[in-house]
Amino acid sequence: MGCLFCNILSGATPSEKVYEDDKVFAFKDINPQAPVHVLVVHRVHTKNLDELTADNSAMMGEIFLGVKDVARITGVDKKGYRVIINNGAAAGQVIWHLHVHILGGEEDLGPMLSIRPN
Ligand code: 5GP
Ligand code: ZN
Repeated sequence: MGCLFCNILSGATPSEKVYEDDKVFAFKDINPQAPVHVLVVHRVHTKNLDELTADNSAMMGEIFLGVKDVARITGVDKKGYRVIINNGAAAGQVIWHLHVHILGGEEDLGPMLSIRPN
């Protein structure tokens, strides 16, 4: 059992690293939904946004600074990219370690929500 993304952070589960620093780790999604699909996780386990307190302000800043670095490293910053957090079951969260999806590498990423097409 345990947390899959904690196992990726520890190296017990292999992943394709895109970026890391002392706060966050970024790796390719195993089931990419766009040419570039990277996940950014903080080294500190937090279930999702519902658990956050004021003590996590720095953590969230560190995650989004990691997002910016990944966008630059992968090149998606040039044309634009989408950042998604699936928070809770209705949003499709299946890994209960807060993570940010970075999606890009397309000319047009399409409608924000597939259930509400433009
Ligand atoms: P969620 O739906 O919780 O927001 O996103 C979980 C993501 O983790 C999914 O996009 C899924 O493809 C990805 N994922 C699940 N298992 C693994 C794994 O073992 N390795 C990697 N790299 N990604 C995974
Ligand atoms: Zn975890």
